[in-house]
Amino acid sequence: STPVAYVAGLGATAKKGIIVKGGIHLEALSAVKTIACDKTGTLTHGEFNLLELYCAVGKLKGYTRLEIFRLLAIMEAESSHPMAVSLVKAAKNEGVELTSEDIATSHTILKGEGVEGEIDGETVYVGNLKLIERLGMLPSVGDIALNKAAKWSSNGGTVGFVAIENVGVLCVFVVADKVRNESKIAVRQLQNMGIEVFMLTGDGKGAADAIAKQVGIKPENVKSQLLPIDKLNFIKTMKLKPANEETPLMTNRSTRSEHYSSDVEGSNKVGLFSKRDKVMMCGDGVNDAPALACADVGVAMGTGAAIAMETADVALINNNIQNIVYCVSMGRKVVTVIK
Ligand code: ADP
Ligand code: MG
Repeated sequence: STPVAYVAGLGATAKKGIIVKGGIHLEALSAVKTIACDKTGTLTHGEFNLLELYCAVGKLKGYTRLEIFRLLAIMEAESSHPMAVSLVKAAKNEGVELTSEDIATSHTILKGEGVEGEIDGETVYVGNLKLIERLGMLPSVGDIALNKAAKWSSNGGTVGFVAIENVGVLCVFVVADKVRNESKIAVRQLQNMGIEVFMLTGDGKGAADAIAKQVGIKPENVKSQLLPIDKLNFIKTMKLKPANEETPLMTNRSTRSEHYSSDVEGSNKVGLFSKRDKVMMCGDGVNDAPALACADVGVAMGTGAAIAMETADVALINNNIQNIVYCVSMGRKVVTVIK
């Protein structure tokens, strides 16, 4: 039987559009000391716009701007990355009209790097600097394009390249996403509650640092260019950290709480009121799912991937990231009442 305070807590959060999947998670929420937050789609809206595409390099290789946009559109039409929609739209605005013939065969996702596919018998790549470096195509980018890329990413933009095998890089472009209005205030409130906030992102260092600065996350707490496994490993590492002894909640041992912990957490996890601070992961993407599952509390954005919503312990159905603050406060309140 669930204590009355838990039921009340779940009801109050539900009214705000926060689905907490059980009282046990309110307990974990009360002890959260570390929050790892995905960038794209979580701290930001995840809705991109193409700001600029520079293709002087392309022209030298006999590709027109329109042709480059066509290749980009074909590749992105089959992609699921949040930036894909904006690129297809931008290509359309440039005059690209895709027909059913315009497809990329063997379209593949290159984890943490971009996409690859065959168009008109050529291997086309769209992705980030990491990809271009790995392909050994950096020399084909050119100084002007490289300088633009550096400037764009230091302003918080996400930089991409279109390249063809045996030809080289055709263009460089920048897409940008907007920080959610609530992100900055949420980060500050969490920090004021004694919580350490980190950013975990697959995006490059430049964009990551710029967005972190905008939302108030410390530079040393920013982890960029991460693969899903890296996000998972970060959470694992944080969970191994010993608790801060000064945290009053940690020293409380109630049989009821221990009963709850062992029910849900399993034998490999430490009981909720044991001497270990809790780690929250907050994300929206397929690439966040392993980390969401590993965290003591996984929080998913409502517009996120289905797998993220399913894996998480808490879903913010109205996408308001400030609701995290409410969740932690509610957890603390409920646990205090039960004590
Ligand atoms: P994230 O959700 O943090 O961006 P991903 O692993 O999905 O993480 O992507 C990592 C990086 O790979 C992106 O930031 C982007 O630079 C590049 N990338 C991924 N997919 C695409 C794509 N369809 N087009 C261009 N670049 C892409
Ligand atoms: Mg994301």
